[in-house]
Amino acid sequence: ATPTALVVGTGRGAQLGILIKGPEVLESTRRVDTVVLDKTGTVTTGRMTLHEVYVAAGTDEKEVLRLAGAVEHASEHPVARAIALGAEERAGRLPGVAEFENVPGRGVRGRVEGRDVAVGRLAEYTAELPQELADAKDAAEKDGRTAVVVGWDGVARGVIAVADAVKETSARAVRELRALGLTPVLLTGDNRAVAEAVAREVGIDQVIAEVLPEDKVAAVRRLQAEGRTVAMVGDGVNDAAALATADLGLAMGTGTDAAIEAGDLTLVRGDLRVAADAIRLSRRTLATIK
Ligand code: ADP
Ligand code: MG
Repeated sequence: ATPTALVVGTGRGAQLGILIKGPEVLESTRRVDTVVLDKTGTVTTGRMTLHEVYVAAGTDEKEVLRLAGAVEHASEHPVARAIALGAEERAGRLPGVAEFENVPGRGVRGRVEGRDVAVGRLAEYTAELPQELADAKDAAEKDGRTAVVVGWDGVARGVIAVADAVKETSARAVRELRALGLTPVLLTGDNRAVAEAVAREVGIDQVIAEVLPEDKVAAVRRLQAEGRTVAMVGDGVNDAAALATADLGLAMGTGTDAAIEAGDLTLVRGDLRVAADAIRLSRRTLATIK
């Protein structure tokens, strides 16, 4: 490989909105045959909003919103932001939280007005969900919403449904990746029904859902063990290790610093179509060299 051609490749990358860690990155891009896409913030906008609130019989909806909103106020997660903001709009000023705890890929806990409140998919509340709440949760998830359980003092009290939209460019990006001969795979910690609804919308057949943050790496390794050469595109703190493990890591420039540091390439504008541009560019650059 002549270094000059590689340097030209990286310069062209900058024009396209691709930041490349080093010229050698273009080499590893060549053999990629599988593209793993994180869902939230990568295929979808990651800007979630609050939709439905379901409560158990005898429970006040505003109370569920206030207590859930109070705990989520302390978290940066897109689900948390949607709940805190929506709760404030619908139920007024949020009380303070003490003993806040974030459980990555699961949810949050904290003490609010003397109650032990939890929000998310924490086993202590999802394991024995009353039938009415379980049905509401299933229905919301079939509609592509992320549904989380709100409970306090050992009892599940409600379900809150949030959703974000698929990015305008995602379906086209998936088509372009396929046209390059790559197999797209959707990878997410979110519920399977939600993941499948999003996958359908953008044209992805292969879905790996309900994956804990620490297991995203294992999911990438499994694909590699099948003999695939894997590119991973992600934006979150929980994607960083998988980005580093993949043969090629592409970070969304709109995402977290952790993801950007772990990636080999950064898609500056957070447009998934640029992932296809990056692969096209590297193939062209390397063809010039040969
Ligand atoms: P993704 O892989 O889509 O970026 P995460 O791994 O961050 O998602 O989260 C997986 C799931 O864990 C969420 O869909 C949600 O059900 C739950 N969860 C995570 N953080 C929170 C939170 N702060 N509040 C409520 N639920 C949460
Ligand atoms: Mg994400």
